Amino acid sequence: MSILKNLENIRNSITETANSCGRDPANIKLLAVSKRHPVTSILEAMEAEQFLFGENYMQEAVKKCKAIPDASFHFIGHIQSNKAKTAAEHFSMVETVDRLKLAKALHKHLEKLSRKLDILIQVNIGNDPKKYGMSPDNTEALLQEIQALPQLRPRGLMTMPPFATDPDETRNYFRQLRLLGANCAEKNLFFDNSKVELSMGMSHDYRIAIEEGSTIIRVGTAIFGERPIK
Ligand SMILES: *Cc1c(COP(=O)(O)O)cnc(C)c1O
Repeated sequence: MSILKNLENIRNSITETANSCGRDPANIKLLAVSKRHPVTSILEAMEAEQFLFGENYMQEAVKKCKAIPDASFHFIGHIQSNKAKTAAEHFSMVETVDRLKLAKALHKHLEKLSRKLDILIQVNIGNDPKKYGMSPDNTEALLQEIQALPQLRPRGLMTMPPFATDPDETRNYFRQLRLLGANCAEKNLFFDNSKVELSMGMSHDYRIAIEEGSTIIRVGTAIFGERPIK
């Protein structure tokens, strides 16, 4: 399958799924996760009008941002605090802010750059010890602290639920993220509380995520195929 054809299939599937649950497909952004795929694959996707990409590894991500200035990149990998300067500089959004220390480090560098940055809070919605992310219980408090960091624009929440074989379990995690987002919006903790972004859903579960209110789906394999081994 070609990248072009895969993108066409996913767009159709987004429209179908959105329509089936009464949502406007225009409110669902497709983030094409290009990690470990070459620049040529990104250029191929751009031929099909895909301009939004997700990257996980800092060095690789920065290289691609510089090589392809016409595309937008969201950073979706774990960020060590000593990489905050790089993260502050290059991305249109950082989806993986999961602790106050990182938020403060980003803010410090953004001030020097006179730049504002859209961010999401990465939430460890299942309290999975193997996953990064702020615990759901402490997410509101983190957002409260971020109110004092004006270079950061918290747009919403991102999650990767624990692996589950039962789709209803996955659905339940997505629902919990949506409710957490709604609760924080009610307390005016986001930059735009009438338009909260929920980044959830990957190749195998994005349809469920859309049904549960996702506004950003992060799809890699279903667009670019299996990732080359490092
Ligand atoms: C790799 C990755 C994805 C994409 O996963 P696929 O299963 O290839 O669609 C989405 N989100 C994050 C955070 C990832 O690391």
